[in-house]
Amino acid sequence: MTFMSSPTTRCWRSRDVLLGVAPRNRDVRRVRCSRMTPRVRAAAPVDGPPQPQSIRHLVLVLGDQLDRNASALDDFDASQDVIWMAEVMEESTHVWSGKPRTAVFLSAMRHFAAAQRALGRRVHYVALDDPDNTQSLSGELARAVQAFAPQRLVMTEAGDWRVQQALVQAAQSLGVELEQRSDRHFYASVDEFRAHAKGRKQLRLEYWYRELRQRHAVLLTADGKPEGGQWNFDAENRGSFGKQGPVDLPAPQRFAPDHITREVLTLVNARLASHPGSLEAFDWPVTPEDAQLALQDFVQHRLPQFGTYQDAMWTSEPWLYHSRLSAAMNLKLLDPRDVVQATERAYREGHVPLAAAEGFIRQILGWREYVRGIYWLEMPGYLSRNALGAREPLPSFYWTGDTEMRCLQQAIGQTLDLGYAHHIQRLMVTGLYALLLGVNPVAVHEWYLAVYVDAVEWVELPNTLGMSQYADGGIMASKPYAATGKYIQRMSNYCASCRFDPATSSGEDACPFTTLYWDFLLRHEPLLARNQRMALQVKNLARLDTAARAAITERATQIRQSGGAPPRALQLL
Ligand SMILES: Cc1cc2nc3c(=O)[nH]c(=O)nc-3n(C[C@H](O)[C@H](O)[C@H](O)COP(=O)(O)OP(=O)(O)OC[C@H]3O[C@@H](n4cnc5c(N)ncnc54)[C@H](O)[C@@H]3O)c2cc1C
Ligand code: SF4
Repeated sequence: MTFMSSPTTRCWRSRDVLLGVAPRNRDVRRVRCSRMTPRVRAAAPVDGPPQPQSIRHLVLVLGDQLDRNASALDDFDASQDVIWMAEVMEESTHVWSGKPRTAVFLSAMRHFAAAQRALGRRVHYVALDDPDNTQSLSGELARAVQAFAPQRLVMTEAGDWRVQQALVQAAQSLGVELEQRSDRHFYASVDEFRAHAKGRKQLRLEYWYRELRQRHAVLLTADGKPEGGQWNFDAENRGSFGKQGPVDLPAPQRFAPDHITREVLTLVNARLASHPGSLEAFDWPVTPEDAQLALQDFVQHRLPQFGTYQDAMWTSEPWLYHSRLSAAMNLKLLDPRDVVQATERAYREGHVPLAAAEGFIRQILGWREYVRGIYWLEMPGYLSRNALGAREPLPSFYWTGDTEMRCLQQAIGQTLDLGYAHHIQRLMVTGLYALLLGVNPVAVHEWYLAVYVDAVEWVELPNTLGMSQYADGGIMASKPYAATGKYIQRMSNYCASCRFDPATSSGEDACPFTTLYWDFLLRHEPLLARNQRMALQVKNLARLDTAARAAITERATQIRQSGGAPPRALQLL
């Protein structure tokens, strides 16, 4: 409690127990005084009611913890607690974060802070362009601890391992207790997943998904059986649009930037000018209210077709029947229970077919919870996995979209323009190409973490390193997602306007996906042959005679030596 203060000096008695410091430093009776340097004074918040100089809880709210019902806020007492939020460059530079991604986070954070202030809560908010900003979470925490002398730091457990480590270490070195509370946003806790994983030789989504559906009574009949007599309607979820393409696509609801978002867009354009991506089309939901509207819009207009077309792709149609809800969920603006319940309700009211409802719920209740479990089970070692020994650099066109390969040009182009690509574009276009080329998984991971508005490491890393690059050797996926250009031809119209031929594996016109697919099988034949699910694909290698193999290897080498894409045809003047 502060017992003496002046405009420049503040004294307080330190807390009873200081955790995380050497026992000799736990002297609880000391009175500590600090001179408030101009820097510290500048950090002291100006909003809210008159404040004591020493507070009870400094409640840390990170950019992906914008849940108004978060456990960290459970016992918030406006008379003695302060919320701490910080915009720091470190979070946009530890990977080369795209402009749309940074803008979504900052805008949602500012809206959250405004909503908390409207509740009469005091928010200590450090803006990116605050001249005193140290630009790191630990630096800002140190400044805030100095300014507020909190008895304790309180937070909901961090989503990412890196951030959790940084904050735990910062609290320890500051000699302040850090209380981490469980994250109620998810259906299952990390410990529940650990219990599920214990003793299993292999983890598979399907079993976890069924367990959660039963535990939470989702899409079950009155006697506890799966609706429709089966757990999974995946086989009905692989439609393509055919030659005529998608007809009467319902455009998703846009969220035009308000004044807070406009300020953020200006700031991001100024401070992150050299970062990838564009903000011209920015229209993401950045508040819980917007997120609810986005959910309703999706359920009403796109969910009925989601199942059929969830794997399909089409030129210049980034959204198709997808929900665009991942960023809102990952920032915790939207509760996954609301999403699952709205979907199930739509099915029970006869608005959507079961295959669509089940297919969508599997993404949220299944995949989303599953990848979080894997992340926390496997970190920190997961980051350095490289089961296929991939060493190639990421081609530079991943940062520009400047490539002749039409599918990559489309998927990367919309990623940079919107911060968005749907799952199959990420898995079977950009991810597949990096896998076949043999790109170092860390470089692939850093790209995915940088460019998508929904990118947070707990969900991005298992999807990238595990599912798409098979770098974890089979923890996430039972086999590598390897395919030729013919898969992309079947699921999209990209190949129709591409200079390459998906049916050809060598020579000038060969589709690089097809070349690199066979090259991938040739390079990894012994390892893949041990995987039963790859048996058929490996067996097909026998169809290639020595000359065909040599031609494929030659073309693949040429691609690698030309920066990861075939040399461009000479342009005639
Ligand atoms: C290489 C790669 C990287 C990815 N990185 C991310 C990421 O950083 N953040 C992220 O949220 N998703 C990631 N995904 C999963 C998925 O691609 C996105 O969740 C989805 O494209 C987001 O768009 P949407 O909201 O329109 O999703 P929809 O297609 O409408 O799907 C509905 C929801 O299901 C959830 N979901 C679907 N698939 C997955 C999955 N594989 N893992 C976890 N949740 C899933 C998402 O919350 C999504 O919003 C990645 C997938 C791949 C292959
Ligand atoms: S031909 Fe190959 S490179 Fe061209 S769009 Fe099709 S899959 Fe992509």
